[in-house]
Amino acid sequence: MNPAVGYRFWRVDPDDAWTRGRLQSPVAETLWPPLETLEAECQTRPGLRLARAGLHRHDELRISPEPSCSCGIYAYHDITPMTRALREEPYMFGGAVLCWGRIVIHPEGMRAQHARPLALCRPESPGVQLRTAALLAEVTREYAIPLLELRDLVAYASEFGASYKPEPAPPSRRGLDRVKDALSWRQIARRLGKAFGG
Ligand SMILES: [Zn+2]
Repeated sequence: MNPAVGYRFWRVDPDDAWTRGRLQSPVAETLWPPLETLEAECQTRPGLRLARAGLHRHDELRISPEPSCSCGIYAYHDITPMTRALREEPYMFGGAVLCWGRIVIHPEGMRAQHARPLALCRPESPGVQLRTAALLAEVTREYAIPLLELRDLVAYASEFGASYKPEPAPPSRRGLDRVKDALSWRQIARRLGKAFGG
């Protein structure tokens, strides 16, 4: 399987000295290590909203993401759901990621075992651009990734990997899940709220 290209968003907290300049997963609060690969793990610490997903935490032979769990590093197949989410919160930034290793594919996105950010996209609003320019310069320097216009993001990211967006199911097969026993993407999205973990 070739590496997969996906789109997602991160929070960057400009006021937190510890996380400043770092991409952070909005729900799981995972900090993405600059210049390194992020490895998925089953997040089951008490208090996290993902706690109920701990189906395979103690089974070391299993790899995250499990099809029947909700763990893994999340990314959408398309930029549209990503940009929709960006309008809802300040200091949330979108971008492209490369995913590889085990990948569980859902209709709207995927959950991956390994991921790295490929690029960030410049906020669309001029006001937000102005307010976040210094911060985004810091982040992209830290991760050695480009800051691209949204319209250039897909073309850039596609150079690195493939899209695994499933073909829409033909009407007669609708209802048959691609991944047997998997939580549906909608169930997971509901469980996680508006944002992504992992
Ligand atoms: Zn899991």
